[in-house]
Amino acid sequence: MADRPRFGPAGVPPTFHMLKARLEDVPKLLRNEGLDAFEYQAVRWGAKPQMKRGEAEKLGLKAAENDVWLSLHGSYFINFCGGKEVIEASKQRLIACATAAEWMKAHTVVFHPGFYGKTPRTEVFKNCLEALKEVAESLKALGIRNVKIGPETMGKSSQFGSLEEILSLCEEVEQTQPVIDWAHLHARENGCLKTVDDFRKIVGIIENRLGTEAVKNMHCHFTKVEFTEKGEKCHHVLEEAAYGPDFSMLAKVIVEFDLKPVIISESPMLDLDAIKMRDMLKKQLKS
Ligand SMILES: [Zn+2]
Repeated sequence: MADRPRFGPAGVPPTFHMLKARLEDVPKLLRNEGLDAFEYQAVRWGAKPQMKRGEAEKLGLKAAENDVWLSLHGSYFINFCGGKEVIEASKQRLIACATAAEWMKAHTVVFHPGFYGKTPRTEVFKNCLEALKEVAESLKALGIRNVKIGPETMGKSSQFGSLEEILSLCEEVEQTQPVIDWAHLHARENGCLKTVDDFRKIVGIIENRLGTEAVKNMHCHFTKVEFTEKGEKCHHVLEEAAYGPDFSMLAKVIVEFDLKPVIISESPMLDLDAIKMRDMLKKQLKS
């Protein structure tokens, strides 16, 4: 459970790469920027962890030393909505990601559940639920108890992952936590986050379905987003007034409900926009 609202980037910021920073240097560099969360990107992984255990453990150690909250974004090659073989392979990929997450003592393994394809939605939900239950069982058997499985709300209408679907999965599967991608919600529902009350409603729905603890400790992604009638098109920096959603509205709701979310910036300016959001929340806390 996060002790306070925390902010950090999705992946290593480009300026850190320019400094030739090693992975283990990232927590200290984030701390120097006043950030306190980091989502490691394991998005191209297959059936086995594509990092050495020692490297993961070192990252975990440095994160703890610098008070940086870790999560891991799992493989894009996970799809729990396909045929049997696809689902089996996806289970292995998610387990590999959770294994590395456990090594680094990350709190959540985030993943995209999959695409509907031609399968009816109710069947897709059933398959996905079943697969996730099996993953949860496997994690238990492997002794991976501290990593939450985090299905993410998705931004395209072709993708499994409406708020309703994600909350339903989390209601039914142990060791899960919803990952609320606000840009995805906004894009999927045709720009639905326009007022503070729109954010308040979502927070209310999550609380009703999963309880106060779950909503207080939300794991979130945030960026501004451009969308079409099919949903998400591309991410934009916070500065761009033409696009939503507006983080200051979420900041208001965070203060109002005394939430302690982890907010991962997926803006093209990863860490710089994380800093901006942190400052917007600080301002809100003072007012
Ligand atoms: Zn994602």
